[in-house]
Amino acid sequence: MPKESSALDVPFIQGDGIGPEIMDATRLVLDAALQKATGGRRSVHWVELAAGESSFESGGEWLPGGTLSSIRRAGVAIKGPLTTPVGGGIRSLNVAIRQALDLYASVRPVRHFQGVASPVKAPEDVDLVIFRENTEDVYKGIEWRCGSEEAARVRTFLRDSMGVDLSEDAGIGLKPMSERATKRLVRAALRHAIDHDRKSVTLVHKGNIMKFTEGAFRDWGYEVARDEFPDKVRFEPGIGGDEPDPKVLVNDRIADNMFQQLLTRPSEYSVLAAPNLNGDYLADACAAQVGGLGFAPGANIGDDVAVFEPVHGTAPKYAGKDVANPCAMMLSGAMMFDHLGMPSESAMVVRAIEGTLAAGVVTKDVAARSQGSVRSVGTSRFAEEVALRL
Ligand code: NAP
Repeated sequence: MPKESSALDVPFIQGDGIGPEIMDATRLVLDAALQKATGGRRSVHWVELAAGESSFESGGEWLPGGTLSSIRRAGVAIKGPLTTPVGGGIRSLNVAIRQALDLYASVRPVRHFQGVASPVKAPEDVDLVIFRENTEDVYKGIEWRCGSEEAARVRTFLRDSMGVDLSEDAGIGLKPMSERATKRLVRAALRHAIDHDRKSVTLVHKGNIMKFTEGAFRDWGYEVARDEFPDKVRFEPGIGGDEPDPKVLVNDRIADNMFQQLLTRPSEYSVLAAPNLNGDYLADACAAQVGGLGFAPGANIGDDVAVFEPVHGTAPKYAGKDVANPCAMMLSGAMMFDHLGMPSESAMVVRAIEGTLAAGVVTKDVAARSQGSVRSVGTSRFAEEVALRL
């Protein structure tokens, strides 16, 4: 290593299924980018942490406590997708990690890369960052099975104390949404829009029906914008005035309308802030518009810790075959570089992926949908091609 070199400790979780392959591909590209940008003065020291199927098979634990404390200590980690254990115990490893580390904002950028086939006519019009609340709403997982003792008690309480009658054959779920969790999520979305010159933040909700949860999300969202960013934001006419750019426009859309607007006029939207379930649906639907989950990176961000991961899962049918698309994982790595204060290295990785795809070098998922002539390569070869273009 050259003189005055420094290595940055970065914990990583390989993941299950296609995880190890896409993580290897990603580390190769991130290492190469850092080497190239700094002439070897900076590097990443990768620290592997246990989680998921391999951890369960070797040590009997799906999510060892040591893994969480190591991430907490480092303040950052990158992870591959993890299998959700079927049956009792942990509901979902990913949800457990997000909740244990209070990673309250799921940040999912969605954009199109030239050369990637899409089911819509103008995928290049999609350029969004979705901020999805990561701790409440359906992610709380508060529900009681139909016919259970607990469901009967909740039903009795609701009938006797609240005058609400529920059918005896109903499962029952709770959907909590708080002022604190909503405001910190919307605050993060607004800060992102202001810092990255994004033109708008749209609050996505179903407040016309669920007034005290989804409707409150909208109201609290506007409150944060008005109270905390008064000189940085403007509102749609009739809501808070109609001042000219360059202020960030804050508006809101009802969730069902949002889905059709994103198909019919995606270029009008820039940053979306949504409760948990709306955000989940929107992120996958938008990913489909730009060519699929293979291009959907993500980050789970809290005040002190951030964990970067692709939106997709373990795609078990492709595991071990060297065919999975590593772009979402690589782009998550680029987001991590940005977060670590290395924006030019991050941009280098993104440009190299752009160049590779534009040259027609793609993985099998893209090749299968492409009409033009492309060169289909495996996961590891794709990583080498990206590294060559750094
Ligand atoms: P998935 O793993 O995302 O796979 C669904 C489909 O998406 C695949 O069959 C494949 O489509 C396509 N796909 C996803 N990633 C791809 C990639 N990198 N390259 C190429 N194609 C890709 O969803 P799932 O089958 O519902 O879930 C499998 C497991 O992953 C479950 O245990 C689930 O709980 C878990 N999961 C984990 C996370 C996470 O760790 N954050 C997220 C979601 C799901 P085609 O079949 O059309 O080729």
